[in-house]
Amino acid sequence: MTLADYMAECLLHPRHGYYATRDPFGRAGDFITAPEISQMFGELLGLWLAQVWLDQGSRSRIVLAEIGPGRGTLMADVLRVIRKVPGMADAAEVHLVEASAALRARQRETLKSVEVHWHDNLSDLPEGPLYLLANEFFDALPIHQFERAASGWSERQVGLREGRLAPGLSAPAPLAALEHRLPDTQPGQIVELCPALPQIAGEIGARLAQYGGAALIIDYGDWRSLGDTFQALTDHRPVSPFAEPGEADLTAHVDFEALSDALSGAGARVSPMVPQGVFLERLGIAQRAGALARNLSGAALDNHIAAHRRLTHPEEMGQLFKVIAATAADAPPLPALDPA
Ligand code: SAH
Repeated sequence: MTLADYMAECLLHPRHGYYATRDPFGRAGDFITAPEISQMFGELLGLWLAQVWLDQGSRSRIVLAEIGPGRGTLMADVLRVIRKVPGMADAAEVHLVEASAALRARQRETLKSVEVHWHDNLSDLPEGPLYLLANEFFDALPIHQFERAASGWSERQVGLREGRLAPGLSAPAPLAALEHRLPDTQPGQIVELCPALPQIAGEIGARLAQYGGAALIIDYGDWRSLGDTFQALTDHRPVSPFAEPGEADLTAHVDFEALSDALSGAGARVSPMVPQGVFLERLGIAQRAGALARNLSGAALDNHIAAHRRLTHPEEMGQLFKVIAATAADAPPLPALDPA
């Protein structure tokens, strides 16, 4: 089978899939995400959304949506902040797009004081101005990997060798979708394609173009995919993606050029891509960190300082993670991203 089929089964199989069977987050889990590191992340994203909502005329009914909401922590932090912005919480209908039943239950617990609507797909969201967040969602979408041959491409596949799962390669063939990568690749190099990414980003872009609002996408990756970024994590450590299917988190780096092309191809305006550390600093994370530090001491203060560093430092998440946003073509500049 292709790597994409393998990834989809491992992550989302209803009985054996990684996300279907557990809550993988936090120190006791397999990996930790920005909203689980510090409340500052969700608070600053909430303020970003609030500023965009104000700049776009404080619409009286908005679809406040998140795709891949994990434990619901980010949405909880966002809601706490927007309640301080007169009128915004009343305007916001909360919609979560989540494939995992186990994580939906966890989100229901985190957000129990709020009316929340769950959906299987983005296309099920109601019409209306869309204010959307996606943190570490796109990296979980299944990818295909192609190895450059002399003139065409061989697809990386997963098969059985001596009773064990092992990677293999298809016979090389021309591939229209990678024609544009022939000039900037050499034989032997790997290029990744994520078919669901342009589909989902295109749907977001079309909704922004039609109804207004904004989408904020944060993930690890870079402007153009090159090389093998397929990885498996168990207990915060890299493992072979083929050793225990369904037991490890499988991800790949996100191709931000593909995101940008799909959003703008659907009629939205896309911001420049900015590293997470720069984005959070522009939103005032240093000031927020200072304010929170005043009430902390001892180990709690040490943890807080470490969390600030982890989110922003170039050797931690600050540079690897990138931020991009999109809005309607005629919307005002997006705070902290568009040139004013
Ligand atoms: N945003 C959260 C969680 C990131 S993990 C955080 O930052 O902590 C990825 C999330 O996307 C999980 O909630 C997972 O169940 C969900 N997910 C993965 N593939 C999905 C799909 N195809 N459709 C909807 N949700 C998906």
